[in-house]
Amino acid sequence: MIYSNNPRPESLKSIADVIRTPYWLDDPAKPNPEPQLTQNISTDLLVIGAGFAGLWTALLAKEENPDRDVLLLEAGETAIGASGRNGGFLDASITHGFLNGISRWPGEISILHALGIKNLEEIESTLSRLGIECDYNRVGEIDIATEPYLLDSCRKIIELAKPYNINFQFLDGDQIQGVVRSPLFLGGIKRFDSSIVNPAQLAWGLRKACLNLGVGLYEHTPVTKLVDEKNSVMAATPHGQIRANKVALATNAFPPLLKRISYYIVPVYDYVLITEPLTPSQRDSIGWQGREGLSDGNNQFHYFRTTADGRILWGGFDAIYYWNNGFGSKLENRPASFARLAEHFFQAFPQLEGIRFTHAWGGAIDTCSRFSPFWGTAHHGRTAYTLGYTGLGVGATRFGAQVMLDLLDNKKSTHTELEFVRTKPLPFPPEPLRSIGINLSRWSLAQADRNQGRENLWLKTMDWLGLGFDS
Ligand SMILES: Cc1cc2nc3c(=O)[nH]c(=O)nc-3n(C[C@H](O)[C@H](O)[C@H](O)COP(=O)(O)OP(=O)(O)OC[C@H]3O[C@@H](n4cnc5c(N)ncnc54)[C@H](O)[C@@H]3O)c2cc1C
Repeated sequence: MIYSNNPRPESLKSIADVIRTPYWLDDPAKPNPEPQLTQNISTDLLVIGAGFAGLWTALLAKEENPDRDVLLLEAGETAIGASGRNGGFLDASITHGFLNGISRWPGEISILHALGIKNLEEIESTLSRLGIECDYNRVGEIDIATEPYLLDSCRKIIELAKPYNINFQFLDGDQIQGVVRSPLFLGGIKRFDSSIVNPAQLAWGLRKACLNLGVGLYEHTPVTKLVDEKNSVMAATPHGQIRANKVALATNAFPPLLKRISYYIVPVYDYVLITEPLTPSQRDSIGWQGREGLSDGNNQFHYFRTTADGRILWGGFDAIYYWNNGFGSKLENRPASFARLAEHFFQAFPQLEGIRFTHAWGGAIDTCSRFSPFWGTAHHGRTAYTLGYTGLGVGATRFGAQVMLDLLDNKKSTHTELEFVRTKPLPFPPEPLRSIGINLSRWSLAQADRNQGRENLWLKTMDWLGLGFDS
């Protein structure tokens, strides 16, 4: 572990004036909200949650069958959840990366990889077909090694991926410094099937496409409960009810409407900073003339990328679980994490000393013990859900939406037959064991980072059980 966790006064000064709101949502392009639901209505398909998962579900359902009556209900405004708060790394992987995929589904990794690439390509064709402007760039992502032992891991991953024809490229020290100059960066792996995007603009583009196709959208309309009425599901909201033939739940890390989901998901808060736009000389001092997405490769990792107006987004490292699935807007503001992130930023880029951060925010990640999405149904198959993306859902939610629609339509497809889709993660234990286990895992992962990646007995046992903690 090469980063020091003691913020210097200069680092604290750099965050003194931040706006505590996601940079992506602080945008004049943000649409005015649609009205609340104030009547009782019925629909064929009700989608709950207007993040990426809900937006893709509504869009795919309506595109497949324009006559289908589709309603989308959102508790706040579109992209107010993780979809408007993330790093904007749009990766092809639907398994939270190749390593996680091959370790959990070795027999399916080829098909899962291919389905992920297909999903990415279909996202790209949707963006151009619908004319969605969201600063989408297929620039690839580099996982950077900051210590020699991590370089060895990079080489091993490349060997592991070879039989699957997965296109990873090893970068040595000179090559990584040719991409971006930092005293901490020793090399890395470039993955080509990854893009960066302005996530809020992507969500707003999908929202507009849904509205254009006739999806009914109600914002500021939280669903407070779902009731199985045998021939339909009733969704209650503060000022109206909806009777739906089918319900697609896309509520991510938010308090779930189905109790069973709370066993599989823990909300984990991740924090992000963004700088002011770099001057040309600041940009020259770090190189990084391309727009590659970057992350450093420890258990506790940072992700960083540039924006269309020349800022650097820098997030990650702390992944905080609050007692008893703590959730709410006040947890989106964590000064200690902002200070640590600022300090780490200047350790990675000492050339940028003096730059100021303009925005700081946090958001909840729907962490599950296998780090990748899962699906399920309730109410005799009338309700389906998808979640568990664990910090890699910007692209994978589209795949998740497609599977959710197949499940609701009782359709057997290549997707629904996969073990990846049919199985669920191991549940988390109830409190207080939940907090104890997660905090012990976080501590052990940090220890491993300080100890050349060597795992303690706790982490080895967790690996053996197929349980994990990540963001
Ligand atoms: C800080 C951060 C950084 C991340 N970085 C990346 C990244 O770079 N790349 C990546 O792939 N992934 C990243 N992720 C994860 C990614 O953002 C999510 O996986 C993805 O956005 C999930 O989309 P979603 O639609 O499932 O959830 P959300 O966007 O959270 O949407 C859920 C929606 O449901 C609504 N809702 C909840 N309950 C109700 C209810 N009862 N009634 C009505 N509406 C309700 C909420 O208001 C919300 O709008 C990050 C996440 C965070 C928090």
